[in-house]
Amino acid sequence: MKKNKVYCPYCGAEARLRPASAIYGDSTKAVNEDKYLYVCNRYPKCDSYVAAHKKTGLPMGSLANKELRHKRMLAHRAIDRLWQSGIMSTPRVYQWLQAKFGLSEKQMHIAKFSEYMCDQVIAACDEVYNRLRTAN
Ligand SMILES: [Zn+2]
Repeated sequence: MKKNKVYCPYCGAEARLRPASAIYGDSTKAVNEDKYLYVCNRYPKCDSYVAAHKKTGLPMGSLANKELRHKRMLAHRAIDRLWQSGIMSTPRVYQWLQAKFGLSEKQMHIAKFSEYMCDQVIAACDEVYNRLRTAN
């Protein structure tokens, strides 16, 4: 795996690549086998991390604290609801959000989103979902 310098946006410390089970607990070892996270060197004092790509070893996005991790999860959920309900196909949801917020394909990754961006995406998805669901 390639080594990459990654820094914590909250405290400026360097982040280290660690097995996911070191953070999620040993009981998750089987599920998280070969999953890695970039974890702030000040963890657990600074509770911030992000998943690493399996193939490249690069971080999926920016390190996130608890609130941001939660927001990103909600954004995922809002997007999932759109394609699960059949309103848009998965690629369409991403194309639409890219167009709506003027994002490049590279920027259109929830792991790269700030709390503000997550809020915008959730609001946009909910708005379309509520409008189109009641239209049928
Ligand atoms: Zn930190």
